[in-house]
Amino acid sequence: MPLVPYEEALTRVLHRLEPGEVLEAPIRSVPGLVGAQEVRSPEDVPPFDNTAVDGFALRCGDTDGAPVELDVIATIAAGAQPEVTLAAGTCARIMTGAVIPDGADAVVMVEDTEDVGGDRVLVRRPVPRGAHIRPAGDDLRGGDLAVAAGTRLTAAHVGLLATLGLTGIRVHRRATVGVMSTGDELVGPGVPPAPGQIRDSNRQMLLALCDRAGVEGVDLGLVADDEDAIESAMREAAQRCDAIVTSGGVSMGDYDYVKAVLGRIADMEWMQVAIKPAKPFAFGKIGPTPVFGLPGNPVSSLVSFELFARPGLRRMMGDPDPHPLRVPATAGVDIRRRADGKTHFVRVTLANEADALVARPTGAQGSHQLAASATAAALAVLPDGEGVAAGGPLQVIPIS
Ligand code: AMP
Ligand code: MG
Repeated sequence: MPLVPYEEALTRVLHRLEPGEVLEAPIRSVPGLVGAQEVRSPEDVPPFDNTAVDGFALRCGDTDGAPVELDVIATIAAGAQPEVTLAAGTCARIMTGAVIPDGADAVVMVEDTEDVGGDRVLVRRPVPRGAHIRPAGDDLRGGDLAVAAGTRLTAAHVGLLATLGLTGIRVHRRATVGVMSTGDELVGPGVPPAPGQIRDSNRQMLLALCDRAGVEGVDLGLVADDEDAIESAMREAAQRCDAIVTSGGVSMGDYDYVKAVLGRIADMEWMQVAIKPAKPFAFGKIGPTPVFGLPGNPVSSLVSFELFARPGLRRMMGDPDPHPLRVPATAGVDIRRRADGKTHFVRVTLANEADALVARPTGAQGSHQLAASATAAALAVLPDGEGVAAGGPLQVIPIS
């Protein structure tokens, strides 16, 4: 089977996926989701001219010959509507966020004044026109685009939507993603492994990766190496979930029944991808439900999720650019490899040193050695060749 370059393999996956249904969600729930409507500001933000500081609203012309004393004729709190109009020689004590009174054209900070008693204040220096006034519409004008359709929504968007008075926004629905482990050698939590058995690590890890990708992970449990058990688990999952992630059973072994079952009930593509780790990868659909068949070795599962499942699931969530983000970095040590026709994804730590983001391998890089990979902040992308020398440039894909 010819090796498929990574970009091509990912393109094949993304081409078969579409953004999910659109529904209205309460704004508090939307971080991690993708907006499916544009939002325009219904009004100016801020809605009125207001002060950025605690101080005194005044007429700047009165301070041309500062130091100067002014009469304090009112106190204006945030939330109050001023009832005064400033005449020459007067000012109003004012609190951050309060409405600028009529007649005022600048604000002086408390720190630049002195209380001289008798409802008078000394302004030490001339105050420029407009000082410390936040004009209406300074953030958004009525009608301005506040959130474009297709935006990955964040906590800051929640604040912005609340500012605009919205309680909900139309988004692509959060995908539910079933995660299943397969293998007779695996035992679940709380079960002591018999000789020859190991604990199932991938299911918990992949559920956690689903959380981080913004989808809702559904635990489909541990399925034995048995064709009937795997088939009924797959069929039920395809009904219940928007997508399925499996690990194990997709390579060349005698008991790789996942491969046999999916080969029968799903429209699958079995790929040998030109990458290390995570060379075997399967993708297809049971009816309309996508299935990501990740390799069983824990590090391969992790890397395969980041390189294929995460982008695919993000596409299902409406993400306009689900490709893994690549960031330029510098090799902190020699990172050597041999030419083998594959792109290597080396688990690295990241550190900010001088002006550079410095990447260093985390240690043991075997696909069964999760301990070292667990300390990684990123995958360093090493194109086919000899690797990179200390101080050389490389790209990394952040994973934590
Ligand atoms: P397989 O792809 O099923 O041949 O599995 C490859 C390797 O990954 C074997 O050593 C399995 O024991 C191991 N493996 C498969 N699934 C899991 C899992 N859920 N947790 C930990 N190791 C696993
Ligand atoms: Mg297996």
